Amino acid sequence: MKALIPVALIFVFLAASWANAQGQQDARYAIALHGGAGSDWLKLDSAEQAATKASLRRALTIGQTILKDGGTSLDAVEQVIRHLENDPIFNAGKGAVFNSAGGHELDSSIMDGRDRSCGAVAGVKTVKNPISLARLVMEETRHVLLSGDGADQFAKEMAVDLVDQKYFWTQRRYDTWQRVKRKQADDHQGTVGCVALDTHGNLAAGTSTGGLTNKLYGRVGDSPIVGAGTFADNKTCAVSCTGVGENYIRNAIAYDVSARMAYKHQPVKEAVHEILTKTLDASKNGLGGIIAVTHDGKITMQFNTGAMARASADSTGRFELALGE
Ligand code: ASP
Repeated sequence: MKALIPVALIFVFLAASWANAQGQQDARYAIALHGGAGSDWLKLDSAEQAATKASLRRALTIGQTILKDGGTSLDAVEQVIRHLENDPIFNAGKGAVFNSAGGHELDSSIMDGRDRSCGAVAGVKTVKNPISLARLVMEETRHVLLSGDGADQFAKEMAVDLVDQKYFWTQRRYDTWQRVKRKQADDHQGTVGCVALDTHGNLAAGTSTGGLTNKLYGRVGDSPIVGAGTFADNKTCAVSCTGVGENYIRNAIAYDVSARMAYKHQPVKEAVHEILTKTLDASKNGLGGIIAVTHDGKITMQFNTGAMARASADSTGRFELALGE
């Protein structure tokens, strides 16, 4: 009997090591985020570029910490985007662009890859963090998308942080608005998005924006349109887009990444590349970028604009930030 004790201990030790190894294998996570596509990122002076990268690093660390600690991809996506919404560098929350009426209307969406549940808000005017309101639409209502006054009313009922329009004002966006009004051009830099795979194997995606500078009052872009600017399905991938939203809506871009994986068995990198070079024609205003993470933790971050503020990390030790190619 005594002779069996060491054998039993060895067995227990081996079983524990095996369980631990399994646990580590299962503890795979991956996260990617963007702060908008556009070559203007490269025109920032070195102090502004450093500030942008510091903010991306902070956002990535917030998301990575949640995932490392076994938190959910939904929480990582929401908290990363809240950070970016609070930073006036980006065109989401504080620092949102001006519309043609000189105001700010914010769009956002979030999606849960477990069951395709999703929530979105469009054209909100008083909500400090639209991504959190989008999540409340998903979790607390039977709807997917609330817009305009109804969405602001829902924000009041949910007791989220409310602000007045002055909160969103920044000199930089005001100056850009004046320039864009004269040129009648599109300006769309600084939308934010995040995609994540958590250690439970669940994907989530979210996007938040002030939209296009000088957009018509009432215009809604792709960011709050599930399937256009945001998509997540545990079977394929989680996607967040940035660019001239009308093209992303016309081509159901975020869904197309997932569909190409599901129906064509296309690797995600190839799917995103084809979309950005073929479906979206950069010469016809099809400018933008796409980030995606797959069910097995592959990350891709691509753009056809020369630059995209972006960052990514995963459980293999990846931790990257970049603006240009
Ligand atoms: N897609 C956003 C919109 O059209 C803008 C952007 O991504 O920069 O509202």
